Amino acid sequence: MAVIPVDIAGRPYEVRVGAGLLPDLVAQCGARLRKAAVPIVTDVNVHAQWGAVVDTALRAAGHEPHWRILPAGEQTKSWQELAATVDWLLGLEVERGDHVLALGGGVIGDLTGFCAAILKRGCNFIQIPTSLLAQVDSSVGGKTAINTAAGKNLVGAFHQPSLVLADLDVLGTLPERELRAGYAEVVKYGLLGDAAFFDWCEQNGAAMLAGDAALREYAVAHSVSAKARVVADDEFERTGTRALLNLGHTFGHALEAQTGFSDRLLHGEAVALGMVLAARYSARKGLMPPEEAERAARHIESMGLQARLPSLGLNCDGRVLVGHMLHDKKMDAGTLPFVLMRGIGQAFLDRQVDLADVTVFMDEELAR
Ligand code: NAD
Repeated sequence: MAVIPVDIAGRPYEVRVGAGLLPDLVAQCGARLRKAAVPIVTDVNVHAQWGAVVDTALRAAGHEPHWRILPAGEQTKSWQELAATVDWLLGLEVERGDHVLALGGGVIGDLTGFCAAILKRGCNFIQIPTSLLAQVDSSVGGKTAINTAAGKNLVGAFHQPSLVLADLDVLGTLPERELRAGYAEVVKYGLLGDAAFFDWCEQNGAAMLAGDAALREYAVAHSVSAKARVVADDEFERTGTRALLNLGHTFGHALEAQTGFSDRLLHGEAVALGMVLAARYSARKGLMPPEEAERAARHIESMGLQARLPSLGLNCDGRVLVGHMLHDKKMDAGTLPFVLMRGIGQAFLDRQVDLADVTVFMDEELAR
């Protein structure tokens, strides 16, 4: 098992990455489970695969699990589910010192984390991420949110978990498309700040996705370490360091918006193509050697992810896509910061990007 400390000032916690953590849940949580009753929020898919393992582990240690099993999918991050889940926790008389367990992908982690942030002005929670994306990204760092009619993740809070348990065994039941989408967030750490890790991804990414246990542990632990360093440095995304984690997200957000935040394009798939666009745009501006941008694109494509805009069948022009970018929550006093690249492993934040230029670039990419 790999143990990665997240050194948040005053509230440090651990991310534990390894096999067999779910059956060992009670020992892993230790004194955090201070009462018999344990509230667990999950979704139907995860519950069907892993509910019995968690239930058995808790009951064997004398705990009484209380399950809230939500529909799977992005629509669960809603005001309605937030209110209903908070009411459910209040009904269970959860106190501030108690821990709520979030067992699921990023949707369950974001919703449960936000419930914990506002319940009695903040109670504890433990992230038990079950998708690759959640293990390497969303369960670490304390961003919690729901979606509203105005857009995705527009209402939320920074609220750090007390512990993150990333059990690699759970990836065995994750649908392959979700696994590939999560891989985008793994390779992101290489592209944004770690050229040696990008080399590792080129050499080992395929075998890791195919199921090699040691490679999976390395990929998840290395990704978590990278995120932990950034989050400890800039917990509230104020200095710009944490914003680098948004590599590919501004371009990707436009693609997700144009495809209606639907199953047509998963978040990780949008980030993968978004990172290729960020690299190609950086090359077009002369910031990055074009062959490096194409190297990034080749790797993304070789992992079964899209690296070309026309393959999405978007049926729109560059102006429409840039219009979506203007509704991104990263807009800041009329400017939109972009994460661009000087090379593989060398991302930086550019606050001066000319959106007319991006529009022309997107039209070129749509015609590629
Ligand atoms: P998700 O939670 O919808 O999970 C994807 C699908 O896989 C769901 O159908 C789920 O039921 C299923 N699933 C998950 N684990 C499984 C398992 N082990 N076995 C079988 N099925 C399983 O989506 P996601 O990709 O995990 O997360 C996406 C969400 O994360 C988005 O809402 C995004 O905004 C959010 N996010 C948050 C952060 C953050 O820092 N808080 C960062 C990135 C993404």
